[in-house]
Amino acid sequence: MNLFLPLLLALSILLTAASSHANEAEPDEPAPAPVEPHSASDASLKSDSAEPGMAEPITLLNNTIAPGTFRTLHWSPGLSMTSLNTPVPVLVAHGAAPGPTMCMTAALHGDELNGIEIVRRVLHQIEPDDLKGTIIGMPIVNLDGFRRASRYMSDRRDLNRYFPGNPIGSYASRVAHSLFHKVILHCDYLVDIHTGSFLRTNLPQLRGDLKNPMILEFSRHFGGMGVLHHRGGSGTLRRAAADSGIPAITMETGGPHSLDQESVSHGVKGMKNVLHNLGMYKTVRLWLIPQPVFYQSTWVRSNQGGIMLSKVVLDEKVKKGQLLGRVIDPITNTSSDIISPLDGIVLGKALDQVVSPGFATFHIGIIATEEQLAKPIPAEVKAPELESDEGEPITSPPLAPGESGELVEPFQDMES
Ligand SMILES: [Zn+2]
Repeated sequence: MNLFLPLLLALSILLTAASSHANEAEPDEPAPAPVEPHSASDASLKSDSAEPGMAEPITLLNNTIAPGTFRTLHWSPGLSMTSLNTPVPVLVAHGAAPGPTMCMTAALHGDELNGIEIVRRVLHQIEPDDLKGTIIGMPIVNLDGFRRASRYMSDRRDLNRYFPGNPIGSYASRVAHSLFHKVILHCDYLVDIHTGSFLRTNLPQLRGDLKNPMILEFSRHFGGMGVLHHRGGSGTLRRAAADSGIPAITMETGGPHSLDQESVSHGVKGMKNVLHNLGMYKTVRLWLIPQPVFYQSTWVRSNQGGIMLSKVVLDEKVKKGQLLGRVIDPITNTSSDIISPLDGIVLGKALDQVVSPGFATFHIGIIATEEQLAKPIPAEVKAPELESDEGEPITSPPLAPGESGELVEPFQDMES
């Protein structure tokens, strides 16, 4: 028996290698079903082989993907002229060993570039043989907007206001429904990557509903990225996924229309950290931070139209009453100060530009404990005006939070 055991082990390793090689050669073919043990003795031999740790093939977008393989699939909502249909690429790394499915989506807003690069770096650095579970990456969800360097869909709607979608609704709503059902419902975790919108830039940060215990737990694993508590506006992918029981987080990095390598590096580092901490993929360059920093936040708006000149930078600590920026009327030379309503840190800001009265200029966060997250932010901040673009073509950028018409969040937030 002692002589036979090493031989049997070697044989089982050879058989396993041959089987995975066959899967690589014919990736479209479903892998054979796992062989059931025929007898108690067979089962005892099997327990010494690698078989119990092998993942099953998965089926996604009408393709079967073998364990230990990387595939590029395509998703199409099927709503354009068939002859002009351009499917959206979906990158899939299906690990050799079983584990959860992590989804990464980027460029739901076609002008947000940093997430595209984050998804590329993460997916193409993964070796599926060493992966436990599956990573699904969609670098450019809104391909149509991306081609036009536009945040919006071709119908001028914001896709990230229509999830989980409606198969008989507006164009954006149908696209959202297709994506949600064909891809998102396969996810065990979701990271939706965005940037600031409309000439604004964000410190790399996460946003999630920290009152949801699953999301709170998920948010702890990204290393040194601060986490902002926000439930997420109605119609956002993050909110719809969370409402379907999927722990979902928005990752914010930098601003639109440009690629910021530092923001991209932060995002990649955060993703590698979370993959490591969930036991999916080992990384040697861990962000060893024991606890994330949680934030509550508020946007400070301009009270005058004119040219905004900023006085603070991202990540800067500011005091209540401190000058954040100044808005100057270029003709009359009159100016209006933008003052911080609280002690905090600059999480996001508008670039120097021409602003209108009411323009959201500086996003100030305060560090909060988990207990404090549920309470209103201790500052005298007027409730934001509500806008609704539901059912109407968007003719101007949605600026205020709560486009859905709800006024439940104590903290103002710009969905981006
Ligand atoms: Zn966005």
